[in-house]
Amino acid sequence: MGRHLPTLNEWSDFAGLRQIWDERLPDVLRRANRSDFYRGRFGTDPATLTTRTLAGLPLTRKDDLRACYPFGMVAVPRRELISYHESSGTSPGQTTASFHTEADWSEMVERFGRGRQRLTDTDTVLVRVPYAMVTIAHQVHAAAREARSMVVPADARSTAMTYPRVLGLLRDVRVTVAAALPTEPLLWAACARMLDESPREFAPDLRTLILTGEPLSPARRSRIQELWGCDATVSYGNSECGSNLAGECPEGVLHLWADRYLPEILDPRTGSTSEEGRGRLLLTTLVREAMPLVRYDTGDAVELSYDDCACGWALPRIRVLGRWEQGVTVEGRLVFVAEVEEAVYRLPAELGVLFWRATEDKGSLRVLVEAEATTADRVTACLTDLLTEQLGVQAAVTVVAPGTLVDRAELVRESHIAKPRYLSTSAAGAAGLLYPPPAGGAATTAARVPRHGAPFPRR
Ligand SMILES: [Zn+2]
Repeated sequence: MGRHLPTLNEWSDFAGLRQIWDERLPDVLRRANRSDFYRGRFGTDPATLTTRTLAGLPLTRKDDLRACYPFGMVAVPRRELISYHESSGTSPGQTTASFHTEADWSEMVERFGRGRQRLTDTDTVLVRVPYAMVTIAHQVHAAAREARSMVVPADARSTAMTYPRVLGLLRDVRVTVAAALPTEPLLWAACARMLDESPREFAPDLRTLILTGEPLSPARRSRIQELWGCDATVSYGNSECGSNLAGECPEGVLHLWADRYLPEILDPRTGSTSEEGRGRLLLTTLVREAMPLVRYDTGDAVELSYDDCACGWALPRIRVLGRWEQGVTVEGRLVFVAEVEEAVYRLPAELGVLFWRATEDKGSLRVLVEAEATTADRVTACLTDLLTEQLGVQAAVTVVAPGTLVDRAELVRESHIAKPRYLSTSAAGAAGLLYPPPAGGAATTAARVPRHGAPFPRR
């Protein structure tokens, strides 16, 4: 059966969005009932389900997904499944499975394409997010192919793709768009500094960074834009729900794709839910075939609001603060990573701060930042004030030398990976068959960016 997907101009206000939810919910429950997990779970006639009665259904937890590993949540016959993924393992415990059909994939590609990045056939898109086992790299890759861009599948978490090599690629194949964790462009910048070059030297054609996989505060986004002299757009998602769940409108506001995912906000302290506000994000998938989820607790701390936006999209605004379980209580206030980060990157750019860590210790916050000794006093004073202003709490700031939090030698280390070599002219070549170090390769060698390639010929 073909299906109709809502398009962005199809409803004009939030009442229209609620109408989409009410129209879709019975079908969502009908399809969910085809999985082992949901069959009979609700004891509700799907036809009677509305946004009002949804709140009476039990939540689906990450633990339920783990218990259902691998096929317990699947709601379609095996022949309709075309890809298998797992969540990134940011939470401890057993892995969670995620499946997609062909229609799920075309919906995912279309959904990603709504974002502000606007890929075209002249873009060269570096995919520097993990291909194993999460969905995001595959989603960006597929969306770039759909737009007829040229894809550079650089991967992340791969020892074959070192930081100097990423910088070389950005420069030599004239990358225009790069998708990465927000931490990546900071690491690339530190690597460029190690090589005595400015980031822009390595990215002459970079126009947009698509930043995903971590919360990103406005101040960190601005710092990344300044460092790289390009735009940066945010994409929020997870593998278990179906990758990208929110993207930016032309105004640069992050909107939840609420015509595809019905959101609720859970107050974990009371267990009550509301339409908007601050809390943990629950999602009900509205169009997904392979693995429908009903009231799934994403575990993400967010702020959701239904304020109008100049873009005209009647989609809620979302701000992602971090994982709820990783929030820390400081002076009685629950603090999330994006809030601390906002203070750190509001430090003046000339202080050169790129990396930080914070821990909660007996109810107070201790923040470590890397900075040069010459700026240490200014960094300490300034950041203490910013943290008080941002969080309303006192924090102990300690400046540590560059390299303490991010090992710079590791950052510029060359790859230790080579293909196994069976036939060679020297004994060194036969060192091993399990992806051995390159023949004769010492453990660590100096940084080397691949030499400049010739530019693409103009025609
Ligand atoms: Zn907007």
